[in-house]
Amino acid sequence: MKTIGLLGGMSWESTQTYYWLLNEHVKARLGGLHSAKLILYSVDFAEIEALQHQGNWAGTADILSRAARAVEQAGAEFLVIGTNTMHKVAPEIEQASGIPLLHIADATGRVLKRDGVSNVGLLGTRFTMEQDFYRERLEQAGIRVIVPDEPEREMIHRVIYEELCQGAINDSSKQAYLEIVAALAERGAEAVILGCTEIGLLIQQADTPVALYDTTEIHAAQAVEKALDT
Ligand code: GLU
Repeated sequence: MKTIGLLGGMSWESTQTYYWLLNEHVKARLGGLHSAKLILYSVDFAEIEALQHQGNWAGTADILSRAARAVEQAGAEFLVIGTNTMHKVAPEIEQASGIPLLHIADATGRVLKRDGVSNVGLLGTRFTMEQDFYRERLEQAGIRVIVPDEPEREMIHRVIYEELCQGAINDSSKQAYLEIVAALAERGAEAVILGCTEIGLLIQQADTPVALYDTTEIHAAQAVEKALDT
């Protein structure tokens, strides 16, 4: 089994889910007392969030590059960045670490392709929904990405930072997200990506007939496949 280097704390609410899922998948594959070999570097999300909203992405890349080098030196054999948004600086982080990165958008794209989804809705932070670093990756794989309209993007972003990343799960936000999922389906989305690692804490597949692709689940499952496929 390869050792996974997990960059977490963005937010720690979703890192808990990663830790649980990585171990569950190893247990499902190997049984008994088997558990994931991993090195977790958990950052202070307040520092990252401040730099993001100042547009200081180089500052975030510095923090995460240092973290990536630390997990590599501690024995990690590949990297998992436990947030969609921070894949904006994935190339810098991967280069600094010298070990391969399992990119969350590539992992998600592979599952969408496998399932024959070619038009997909995307929920995430404003950075993920509006900038190229994430959508381009899917579009290069031949998947058309549909994002919510401006007022909805504003609300989704606010709920991520002010509620989900602080452990607050509110029913009114859940209903608002579900309405957006339905609207994306009406606009032609065959499925919707939960492209923020905390959204799965708010809405789940049982809440909607629209197919949901939870990036935390997909990323963790593929990390374990990568760790176990030698
Ligand atoms: N975890 C979130 C994501 O997947 C948002 C937190 C962040 O900005 O890193 O994008």
